Amino acid sequence: MMVPALAAAPSDSFISRALNKPVPGGVAVVDLGNGVEPPKATYQGKPVLVVKEQGNRWLAIVGVSLTVKPGSQQLAVRDASGSRNLSFVVGDKKYPEQRITLKNQRQVNPDPNDLKRIESELALQIQAYRSFSPGTPSNLILDKPVNGPLSSKFGVRRFFNGEERNPHSGLDFAVPAGTPIKSPAAGKVILIGNYFFNGNTVFVDHGQGFISMFCHMSKIDVKVGDAVPRGGVVGRVGSTGRATGPHMHWNVSLNDARVDPAIFIGAFQP
Ligand code: ZN
Repeated sequence: MMVPALAAAPSDSFISRALNKPVPGGVAVVDLGNGVEPPKATYQGKPVLVVKEQGNRWLAIVGVSLTVKPGSQQLAVRDASGSRNLSFVVGDKKYPEQRITLKNQRQVNPDPNDLKRIESELALQIQAYRSFSPGTPSNLILDKPVNGPLSSKFGVRRFFNGEERNPHSGLDFAVPAGTPIKSPAAGKVILIGNYFFNGNTVFVDHGQGFISMFCHMSKIDVKVGDAVPRGGVVGRVGSTGRATGPHMHWNVSLNDARVDPAIFIGAFQP
């Protein structure tokens, strides 16, 4: 028998006010109540970041992927008092479209060898996004990795040479090649590579599935296993991979859902 889920209690914390943007590609902050031990939360079968707010309340910081349909969603919670489901509501958000012209047609329609390479690179990157380390992130409000204007927003539906491909999974900053890219929070380097689409890429695990990815870099300054302080340089801006010019592309992921990095730097627009 299906047990109806309890509606999550509203939370009026600083973290909720800053980060609660429950739309596809956004973040849901769910109040898990008081307790001595941290509750465990899972969403769509994946472990979720749980932090303690002022007043001893536990908050789940849930990433909502772009593929989630608006409506009621379930968070499974387990703590000292047992297991329960909490529901939260995901609203709608319309993302704009963008048309991009690439001179290299292989970057639009890769050949069979490219496809093999892309598939294995994707598997490595998904594995990185799914890693879940126990540490609590140093900060949830993130520093900008570079200082510069935004050039492409998250979630934009992209048509390369007229053909629709995956929506934009991160945020682009228009900054010159060579600009140092600084880690927006402390973390550990869990994957680096030179990939077909992303070019030179670094994954930084900030703790509990909260992960940053930087790509199209001209140079990587870290290696796998390195501990990176908040503000530590991980590499330099470039245009490697599928890029029309130098820029810094930054993904933020929670529970293996790519979410809008603008939320974490206070630049989100509904
Ligand atoms: Zn980008």
